[in-house]
Amino acid sequence: MLKRLIFAFVVFTMLLTIPNISLNLFEKKLGLTSEASGKENTLKNADAKPEEKVARDTYEPELIKVFNTKTNEVMVIDFEEYLKGVVASEMPVEFDIEALKAQAVAARTYLLYRLKKYPDGQAEHPKAAVCTGVHCQAWNSKDDLIASHYQGWYDENWDKIESAVESTRGQILTYEGKIIEPLYHSTSGGRTENSEDVFSLAVPYLRSVESPYEGDSPKLNGSVKISTSEFIEKIESVYGDMDIREDNLEEKILLGEVSEGGRIKTIIIDDKEISGREIRSLFNLNSTNFSFIQNGNEIEILTTGYGHGVGMSQWGADGMAKEGYNYQEILKHYYTGVEIVNMK
Ligand SMILES: [Zn+2]
Repeated sequence: MLKRLIFAFVVFTMLLTIPNISLNLFEKKLGLTSEASGKENTLKNADAKPEEKVARDTYEPELIKVFNTKTNEVMVIDFEEYLKGVVASEMPVEFDIEALKAQAVAARTYLLYRLKKYPDGQAEHPKAAVCTGVHCQAWNSKDDLIASHYQGWYDENWDKIESAVESTRGQILTYEGKIIEPLYHSTSGGRTENSEDVFSLAVPYLRSVESPYEGDSPKLNGSVKISTSEFIEKIESVYGDMDIREDNLEEKILLGEVSEGGRIKTIIIDDKEISGREIRSLFNLNSTNFSFIQNGNEIEILTTGYGHGVGMSQWGADGMAKEGYNYQEILKHYYTGVEIVNMK
């Protein structure tokens, strides 16, 4: 007999009235493997300082400093070559060219944003504005990309990566004339999140929007199974002894707050409020859109989506591209109210 401990959010999501649906809900199944990454922490460090207006002389530097998280060294590399390494690392090259172009513009904008915000580097990498890890945006050298793919991958695919970057050369995203911080993530699970529901800051262009074409994502639905005793031990190891047992979990674990995008902001365990992010981290879940199913002495934790859910969904971008949307439409869908402008 299956017991659903947290199920209300599914209904919640479906009942939400959504003012700006521009796409119809749609789903299809297929499977590419990708570890398209999500950045978790960038907004936490964002301050409220107004950003600089994009000056007429905003230009693309030829060379940039990048902290290489594999070698722990600062590399000085060509701006466009860096972007190619990001596009190739952040999305599977099998994605539609329009999705890769959207990724190229987002990656360029993200880099420019950080170069302006952290001209002298930042705490995690003091001598460079960006690093090669998921802390910023994933980047791999051509050699590493060749080594990590099948033989012939480079010859078959590099032109496509170059074309995504070169055909959008100089293009960046702005909101009211300022360079945006274009957060992105793997798979939203059907709807993206308002920035303030995930990080602390409400950002006008990072609004919750529909993301209906994510059916190809291997990360759309996830599952983690754990014994009930281990489940209880893990919770008590962090939050102390609680009155929770195999036979009372259903009454003791309640849904708290749910975000507009369908993720769990808080749950209540034995009267203690715990954030969805803490539960995600405790059980190493793909996202905070989760529910529990108890089956005797086993708990299955089901998740929807992968990553923080803010900004562009990478699998959603590919789904939109396959539906015929171009990269400008994709970017304007996921980043509310932005313009795509030329740096030079
Ligand atoms: Zn970084």
